[in-house]
Amino acid sequence: MTQTLFRNGLVLDPEHAEPRAGSLLVADGRIEAFLSSEEATPEAAQVVELAGRALAPGFIDIHFHGATIFDALDAPAASLRQDAASILRHGVTAFLPTTIALDPAGLRHRVEGLAAAVADHKEGAAALGVHLEGPWISANAPGAQPPEAIRPYEPAEGRDVLDRGEGAIRMVTLAPEAPGAQELLAELGRRGVVPALGHTKASAEVTLDGFDRGARHVTHLFNAMGSFHHREPGAIGAALADDRATCDLICDGVHVHPAAVRAAARAKGEKLLLITDAIDPGASGELEGGRLTEDGPVWRLPGGTLAGSRLPLSDAIANAAAFGAMTQLEAVRAASLGPALLLGIESERGTLRPKARADLVVLEDDGSVAETWMGGERVYSA
Ligand SMILES: [Zn+2]
Repeated sequence: MTQTLFRNGLVLDPEHAEPRAGSLLVADGRIEAFLSSEEATPEAAQVVELAGRALAPGFIDIHFHGATIFDALDAPAASLRQDAASILRHGVTAFLPTTIALDPAGLRHRVEGLAAAVADHKEGAAALGVHLEGPWISANAPGAQPPEAIRPYEPAEGRDVLDRGEGAIRMVTLAPEAPGAQELLAELGRRGVVPALGHTKASAEVTLDGFDRGARHVTHLFNAMGSFHHREPGAIGAALADDRATCDLICDGVHVHPAAVRAAARAKGEKLLLITDAIDPGASGELEGGRLTEDGPVWRLPGGTLAGSRLPLSDAIANAAAFGAMTQLEAVRAASLGPALLLGIESERGTLRPKARADLVVLEDDGSVAETWMGGERVYSA
């Protein structure tokens, strides 16, 4: 048996109310036990000295576009490997590669290519499956998505796409007011795919009807969404006030104002999750809407439309704490156990429970990532 002891740390266990000073014992790639400072430590274990630094479960990004959206539609494997390697330095040990709206042929190729790449994927952060963001969203709330590819859900096409990605598609973001959304929600329910609402101008009533029909998550709350008005609260009002739905948001201080992050955190508590919506355009720097430019933590299209972030998930966590929206432990939970619960993988990931995978992040005092571990092996060191 191989044992590793992460000694003298501040253990950020998302299932504990407070951070705990102590050590974490890992055996054969799995969490074994938390040991308080008074408890004896096994002598045979390899020691990782934390010297008071924080130790958290590996982060999970359920909304990450990375480089794959810029790739040939049927050959995303190389970009997926590149993405999975690059996010280890941000403490991300698992993610959902996320698509954007594509025309019917493009979507078929993309889903088949990604499903195959995910099935073969071994190196770097784990690719848990695919998140389809569109094409079944609202043309009135496209964000940076190509408007011409946005279309109503049509069962024959939709089932074909979901069949091609069978087993790999874990989450679909859709607009509840788009034609066919009710059939889509029923189809996702039958298949056990997480239905998320987003890119929507739906009223509160239509949004609540979407929750009644099984939607249980809201994608990048506030962005690409109708606005909140006290007589027309829209999707935002419905989502903030309904305990059935978790929400995620892009905590970069640009996509969402810090005060709005605080308001969402107060309304949603543990049901507010953190994502990056990060894209990696590489050398080409082009989306369909034109050439992308960097602007602090975000990318913009010509004309200024936000087109995804440059945000590391570790920065999203640090920002949530700096904005006064969450404690560091709550922010860690929002990027680990929270997404794991949404995907139903909380016995394996996003947790420090005994027998869970030893996917771990060592954090410096400023919230930056010092080390990332997967299955008890160090995979990144700053
Ligand atoms: Zn989006």
